[in-house]
Amino acid sequence: MKSLATTFARPALALAALTAACAQVNPPNAPPNLPPPATAASVAAHVARAEQLARDGLKFLLPLCMAQPAERAEPSPAMDAGLRALIAKPAPPPMQVFDNLYYVGADWVSAWVLKTSAGLVLIDALNNSDEAKALIEGGMAKLGLDPRQIKYIVVTHGHGDHYGGAPYLAQKYRARVVMSDADWTMTETKLEFATPIWGAPPRRGAGDISAKDGERITLGDTTVTLYLTPGHTMGTLSPVFDVSENGRKHRAMLWGGTGFNFGKDMQRLDSYIASTRRMDSLVKAQNIDVMLSNHSNVDSSQAKMAALRNQPAGASNPFVMGTPTVERALRVMGECAQAQRDRFAMQ
Ligand SMILES: [Zn+2]
Repeated sequence: MKSLATTFARPALALAALTAACAQVNPPNAPPNLPPPATAASVAAHVARAEQLARDGLKFLLPLCMAQPAERAEPSPAMDAGLRALIAKPAPPPMQVFDNLYYVGADWVSAWVLKTSAGLVLIDALNNSDEAKALIEGGMAKLGLDPRQIKYIVVTHGHGDHYGGAPYLAQKYRARVVMSDADWTMTETKLEFATPIWGAPPRRGAGDISAKDGERITLGDTTVTLYLTPGHTMGTLSPVFDVSENGRKHRAMLWGGTGFNFGKDMQRLDSYIASTRRMDSLVKAQNIDVMLSNHSNVDSSQAKMAALRNQPAGASNPFVMGTPTVERALRVMGECAQAQRDRFAMQ
């Protein structure tokens, strides 16, 4: 049997072995890095890989691997009825989850308040002004937070379940709305999902921000860095910021858009896959150990808040996942996106 030393001592042989291994993936003369052909087996392999990666504590992400329709859903009474049913579900109690981070969201869609030494950053604004009043203003009052201190409203992407309450809050508190240029433009030109339930999107004013990739918003002692993670929409923003617990610092990423509800759009799926890979390396580089979402089924935030509420003082915060687990979560989402890309490629 060849030893490792022998292999390294004979680079030509090692190269030949590597070339042979690669040939199993790409046929000779094929451009490098071309994905293997999409087949039922490749779909199953991506789903199996996602299931394996999710095995330890991330199974809540696996619905993302379910097959999605090739057509984007058009506005309809049935869609509105479904949306009303989601909105009607009772919201979890508002809650402080870190020293400087608070949940003021609904059951289905989330809103987060980041507290700084010079005011508040609201991340997402729920479905409409009624929810903004009841859950964001109402929740903040219960938590001892003053909505007049909201300086920025970050809208992670241009769908109404995230911007719906933004016009009301921005006008009332003179807060600056932050969205990516691509999603500002999308909401100004053609909404992907339009329904009277959400009302009109925010209008881009002089004080508002069209965020570029890596844009930093600093308020007092806190900086939020906004990364463009195209896929769910082409201008989805994923904010990254520090949170602390009893003074101990952690770094959080809020994944700004998750579902594949755009129909057969290969550019979006390819962008999505690239975004998960890019953020995976960023998670490693920045030791990001908390992953949040703007939907509670994507970060399991309701179960984590319930655990946090019931656990003894001093127990570890369930929102702190650890860097390898955050990376694994991104890889699960990336595998599900690859499965969906292969499904569409076969159609
Ligand atoms: Zn969306």
